[in-house]
Amino acid sequence: MKVPFVDLSLLHPHIKDEISEAINRVMESGRYILGPEVEAFEKEFAAYVGTRNCVSVASGTEALILSLRAVGVKRGDEVVVPANTCSPTWLAAANLGALPVPVDPDPITFTLDPARLMSALSPRTRAIVPVHLYGHPVEMDPVLHVARRYGIPVVEDAAQAHGARYRSARAGSLADAAAWSFYPTKNLGALGDGGAVTTDDDRIADHIRSLRNYGWHDGDPYVSHEAGMNSRLDELQAAVLRVKLRYLDTWNSRRTDIANTYGTNISNKSIVLPTVAPWATHAWHLYVVRCLERDLLREYLASRGITSLVHYPLSPQRQPAFSDKSYSISTSMVAMMLENQVLSIPIGPNLADAQVQHVIDTMNEFNIPTEAI
Ligand SMILES: *Cc1c(COP(=O)(O)O)cnc(C)c1O
Repeated sequence: MKVPFVDLSLLHPHIKDEISEAINRVMESGRYILGPEVEAFEKEFAAYVGTRNCVSVASGTEALILSLRAVGVKRGDEVVVPANTCSPTWLAAANLGALPVPVDPDPITFTLDPARLMSALSPRTRAIVPVHLYGHPVEMDPVLHVARRYGIPVVEDAAQAHGARYRSARAGSLADAAAWSFYPTKNLGALGDGGAVTTDDDRIADHIRSLRNYGWHDGDPYVSHEAGMNSRLDELQAAVLRVKLRYLDTWNSRRTDIANTYGTNISNKSIVLPTVAPWATHAWHLYVVRCLERDLLREYLASRGITSLVHYPLSPQRQPAFSDKSYSISTSMVAMMLENQVLSIPIGPNLADAQVQHVIDTMNEFNIPTEAI
């Protein structure tokens, strides 16, 4: 039996008619940029997240860059980021000429450890970017407490957390602004690239609305008030996302069912399963286990037709893009340990029960060969 890591084409057959209708509607409307679909999607996604505003943009990376710009990050500033994350979190700060400053994660939730936050702050800290990694929300109260005390803006990286909650509030509604990605593999994915910023702050929203469209002001075209850019979500993607947003909760609950089934049935002593903090509703973007013999586990799964992936094999501070910075290993010990142990096994709304069972059986059959001990 084959269990691919993700097969996105399987997500669409039962909504094919709705998606085709949306695409045709846009094609025939003659409006392709900043039209009614974008406006409607922004309203619907803001309502879903529970914020006053949603501003759609071209990608998650640009959502991060524009959010950081809107909260005042400039060249020479420092931006506090998790030591373990997908590199775009760091690249957003770097693209503004700011220095990403890592904080090690809590090894149990994999997310930013609030107890380590203080030691990453300096007088030049201009923003904190907690990442709801794998779909598990960051413990936000202590992060916000420190941030408010020192007047530092907080931008959530919610690219993996569509539908997650911290206590009763949705990820994306917890800080000054939140950056979203609609990359096709995310819990809410477009048929191409897309992103958004959600925020309760009207000034941040208006600023990003201008920045995404050449620095023009709404209703006053051809005058750039600052050096903006083109970072717009197009009407086609917005129309597709409107259809898919209606299925997000159903798809997420299938992800939760699979995570619970893995949690109850995988019982291999050499594999550590992910946990959910009592205040968290996990979006299960990824199901990430830990194993000291991760590479052997990965090979074993592959020999049984199961594809697994490593998120992420190299912490950003060890990547060539940041080799000119003098990062110390001591601030990222946990991240370095995780890099060698984490393995993401298949999870997604389109996995069949038999495939889930095959993953469980295979995980339970895995033995660390004695020569590896
Ligand atoms: C996917 C992702 C991004 C980048 O989003 P894009 O739409 O690919 O630019 C940023 N941060 C995290 C945590 C992500 O998973």
